[in-house]
Amino acid sequence: MTNRIAVVTGATGGLGTSMCKALAAQGRTIVASHLPDEKSTADAVAWQQDMKNDGIDVAIYPLDVTNYENCEAFVARVEQEHGPVDILVNNAGITNDAPLKKMQAEQWNQVISVNLTSMFNMCKHVFEGMCERGFGRIVNISSLNGEKGQFGQSNYAATKAGIYGFTKSIALEGARKGVTANSVSPGYIDTPMVRKVPEKVLDNILAGIPVGRLGQPEDIARAVAFLTADDAGFMTGTNLSVNGGQFM
Ligand code: NAD
Repeated sequence: MTNRIAVVTGATGGLGTSMCKALAAQGRTIVASHLPDEKSTADAVAWQQDMKNDGIDVAIYPLDVTNYENCEAFVARVEQEHGPVDILVNNAGITNDAPLKKMQAEQWNQVISVNLTSMFNMCKHVFEGMCERGFGRIVNISSLNGEKGQFGQSNYAATKAGIYGFTKSIALEGARKGVTANSVSPGYIDTPMVRKVPEKVLDNILAGIPVGRLGQPEDIARAVAFLTADDAGFMTGTNLSVNGGQFM
């Protein structure tokens, strides 16, 4: 593997950490981002140290992916301090659930902004350079619930389904330029995001997973590593469902 610069957004979370480790194991230089609030900054310092203890040097910068100008400045900083972005994993995401009758406009807008507008904000600033250099790997993290919908998640499911259309479109635009774009749709993975789900609901979810367990973050990281490999150039515009057989 060539030493390439890989950016992972929302990197300090359950899945992001595992993705950074998998990409580092492939010899990538990892640039991570975290939310620029006080708690996330403190967590980011501890996270960077944990990674170092595992033998992984990671640069980490604050970034709110909902802010177009911040994304532009973030990419400029990465390019200046590390080099051009070869791999982008749009991983930052949130839930803010409510059934439609209770969902507020601000809940809707927040989730659209973090989960979907962020894709545009980040891709916009790396895509052209990737095309000019003739190499790029973009992986957008969607969700099982974008494929099938979910009660109380009309906002979240809409963003995650929207990712498919966005990804396929830029895959077409980058196809002749050596730039691939794919999505990964995790099922229920053993992370803090899923541990927030009430126990009874989680028991029902588990009963519906043919493999009989929650996924592990490494299950998703493996898919990201696969799609971002230098020799994965013929795989583009597709979605990898990594869900233990829960939805086929
Ligand atoms: P997580 O909450 O542990 O991590 C999400 C990260 O995104 C956090 O580091 C958070 O700080 C960051 N983030 C939130 N808002 C942001 C913003 N405005 N700007 C920048 N960063 C922001 O969640 P996770 O489980 O690791 O999820 C990662 C991705 O995987 C998300 O897109 C999520 O929707 C998707 N996903 C997760 C699961 C699962 O089971 N955990 C299932 C399907 C899809």
